[in-house]
Amino acid sequence: MSSGRDFATRLLAWWDQNGRKDLPWQHPRTAYRVWISEIMLQQTQVRTVIPYFNRWLDDFPDISTLANASLDQVLSHWAGLGYYARARNLHRCAQVCRDENGGQLPSTADGLVNLPGIGLSTANAIISQSSDQPAAVLDGNVRRVLARHAMIEGWTGSSAVQKNLWRLAEDRLPDRRGADYTQAIMDLGAMVCTRSRPECTACPVADDCKAFQAGVINQYPAPKPKTRISERRFHMLLALESGEPQKPHRILLEKRPPAGIWGGLWSLPEAATRGQLAEATGLNLENADPLDPIVHHLSHRRLLIQPLLVRDVIVQQVKSGAGQRWFTADEVSGLGLPQPVAALLQKLENEIQAGDN
Ligand code: SF4
Repeated sequence: MSSGRDFATRLLAWWDQNGRKDLPWQHPRTAYRVWISEIMLQQTQVRTVIPYFNRWLDDFPDISTLANASLDQVLSHWAGLGYYARARNLHRCAQVCRDENGGQLPSTADGLVNLPGIGLSTANAIISQSSDQPAAVLDGNVRRVLARHAMIEGWTGSSAVQKNLWRLAEDRLPDRRGADYTQAIMDLGAMVCTRSRPECTACPVADDCKAFQAGVINQYPAPKPKTRISERRFHMLLALESGEPQKPHRILLEKRPPAGIWGGLWSLPEAATRGQLAEATGLNLENADPLDPIVHHLSHRRLLIQPLLVRDVIVQQVKSGAGQRWFTADEVSGLGLPQPVAALLQKLENEIQAGDN
């Protein structure tokens, strides 16, 4: 049986030949760049993240720029990536670092985990990759590799299983090349030991992979216990201001509360029923146009949205609530919007443009 260190040697030799070495956050591999990439990569694939990462670095090249940006600017750079708490936490972390740490990220894992949204695996990924110190990481890909390699029973999200996996991850660390090893084990999970149909014949640690040797890779890791998907039905209002010649039309949006679904983003006014929406806005919605319904999936919830369009609204007649504002299409393009709302507004704008021509 090979030792933990031998695992690292084989993995690094494989990575030298096959690993990913041209990711944008690897050049240069600074703590700030690794941090942004690690947060973006939570729940999101590399190919989706790359354009977001590049745009982010263009506009927020360092912690100070990020800390001094408005939350709206930050959220607009995140729109489409989902799980918006990640963007809000990045912004808050940057402000804490600006105000309390001279504009730098803490240089230890202990310091990093005290910041909002940074867990131990992310902290160790930042430390190992920016300073080349070996430090164990345990993201979803790594959990899968280790659970198969050592045939660990149980769901990898449970705390008992995680404890076991952390021990395995630490046992396998090399003495040096911390940055490459972190990238190597993440690459193995993403490129070879994939969720479905892993390429075990190309795997550098197949010789002592217990699940492979026993022919039971499909049973590891154990699936997450099922959670019930709840459903929520509601109406969203697209209120278009009464147009004037030569003046761009405006639409009513409202800022969502900072916590919860789409926290801090701009969205459309919403209510469970058409009547409640009419009541809240003071508009007569009896003749509002119902647009095509939208089904939007979140991790544990399905949203069934009925958009209602009213044109020629007189702004003064709307009971504007707190956090509501009227925006032109140009202004909307710079806002952080939930994905289904952005798609709905884009479709409406296309129809208006087509109607104008
Ligand atoms: Fe994963 Fe197969 Fe390698 Fe085992 S042998 S670690 S199951 S790719």
